[in-house]
Amino acid sequence: MHLQGIGIGGGVVVGRIVRMPDPLPEPVATPSALTPAVEGNRVAEALGAVAADLLARAERAGGVAGEVLEAQSMMAEDPTLVDDVTLRLAAGATAERAVFEAFTAFRDMLIELGGYMAERAGDLTDISQRVIARLSGVSAPGVPDPGHPFILVARDLAPADTATLDLGQVLGLITLDGGPTSHTAILAREKSIVALVGAAGAASLCDGDEVILDAANSVVVTSPSAEQRAEARAREAARAARALAPVSPGRLADGTPIPLLANLGSADGAEAAVALGAEGVGLFRTEFLFLDAVNAPTVTQQRVEYERMLRAFPGKKVVVRALDAGADKPLAFLNDAREENPALGLRGLRALRASEQILRDQLAALAQADAATDAELWVMAPMVATVEETRYFVGLARELGLRTAGVMVEIPSAALLADRILRHADFASIGTNDLTQYTLAADRMLGSVAGFQDPWNPAVLRLVADVGAAGAALGKPVGVCGEAAADPLLAVVLVGLGVTSLSMSASALADVRAALGDVTRDQARMLAELALAADDAVSARALVTTRAADLLSSPSPTEPSLAAPQERHPRKVLK
Ligand code: PEP
Ligand code: MG
Repeated sequence: MHLQGIGIGGGVVVGRIVRMPDPLPEPVATPSALTPAVEGNRVAEALGAVAADLLARAERAGGVAGEVLEAQSMMAEDPTLVDDVTLRLAAGATAERAVFEAFTAFRDMLIELGGYMAERAGDLTDISQRVIARLSGVSAPGVPDPGHPFILVARDLAPADTATLDLGQVLGLITLDGGPTSHTAILAREKSIVALVGAAGAASLCDGDEVILDAANSVVVTSPSAEQRAEARAREAARAARALAPVSPGRLADGTPIPLLANLGSADGAEAAVALGAEGVGLFRTEFLFLDAVNAPTVTQQRVEYERMLRAFPGKKVVVRALDAGADKPLAFLNDAREENPALGLRGLRALRASEQILRDQLAALAQADAATDAELWVMAPMVATVEETRYFVGLARELGLRTAGVMVEIPSAALLADRILRHADFASIGTNDLTQYTLAADRMLGSVAGFQDPWNPAVLRLVADVGAAGAALGKPVGVCGEAAADPLLAVVLVGLGVTSLSMSASALADVRAALGDVTRDQARMLAELALAADDAVSARALVTTRAADLLSSPSPTEPSLAAPQERHPRKVLK
């Protein structure tokens, strides 16, 4: 049986299931036998202890994980929450019940806000469980330790748990809830944990069941046959070997260069990306720098950040995206409108235009950073829908001294008008996450429509092909910087559709590099044609998977450039 979900990363593991214990029962709502002051002391002690524990975990985890845990630790002692608990104690509630009610109210408020805020709701549930466990004298619900390696199944995993998973024991992670941008997914990607999120069917798995967790194909295979297990183990071993292979520039088997770039949110990840062979940055998500900022950052504040990034890539291309605020990534200083459908509202370039000085400041800061460093700076606008918007952005960038200005293609209208848009822009970068969301009308944050959020959909691929053709006709580069570029087989298809560079999480570079090295340009085009002709995403993926495997296992004499002679055995990178 196959259980579907959303795979994070390209790994596959075979192992036995261990389920996360169920959460604590809801504390009963009987009046407290203690005074509010005594209950208040108990709460203060428990909150303090939980905050200290989270902080200690933050220090052990470090990196993004550490930041998440540190934020949780601060949340545990948030004065608004503490005030709310105190009010409930004064009304006679027990400490356990008051904590439960206050955290639940706060959590519901975040869910109501939707988007990025809603994904933080899980953090609050986790903290309140830890506090209530401490108050009740039981151990906090957490990751089990069965004493052998296992695949963990949980409803959703708290950031505190994901961040500190013992990677020697936890082979992989399956969650019933969560979307591709939940904290679990973000942290799993960063820690290269093989994971499947939003796998509701995994509720049927029991402790001890043997499964194949195949993140690359977004499935869990239950009761696998010996042959399936062997095939998965071979893929696992091949992937481990690829990760150790020396890094080299991205190129096809016929030598065509396809630069492989990194998606970064700050210069913190630059060193690791370079070590993994990133040939530059294809998407610097500048809004990630200012998610917590109340006021717009100054030119100087921004220049410092941009210089750090540019200095990490001397002589290399760094594509910086102007602030993409709105929908799942609201910035307090750019989005103040309460919109029914923020993904269709004043976001991206639209929001920047409505506050043009912020855009001017950002471009000025970038021009200053460019002058002080020797990376090759390209700038691009997010969420461009029209030719007029393209002309506006490119004109402003040039006015402020930036030489190379392009646009992201994330809205179907921009793809359909790529031949006009690229007359004005120096390049296009396709954001397949949003392009898929808007083409399929499926909110990328919503687990219930995650099945539609598949960039293999031939409708999305046709749009990519249109942009690729426009770029080729006008001699303008066309990159992809959405998650699709991190799927090795889809990366080959994208190149076949005319994409000239790929940008992705650094952890995906090795797999994509290997996959590109297996095919010639003609073969990539042929695989792209197959995908375009399919009825839907599932059959596009299946057709291309099968054909790619055939190509690798039986290179025909008329395809002499498939790979170097010593590499003409099936390496199955593309499977
Ligand atoms: C995209 O939409 O594909 C993209 C790369 O931008 P983001 O994920 O930041 O919206
Ligand atoms: Mg986007």
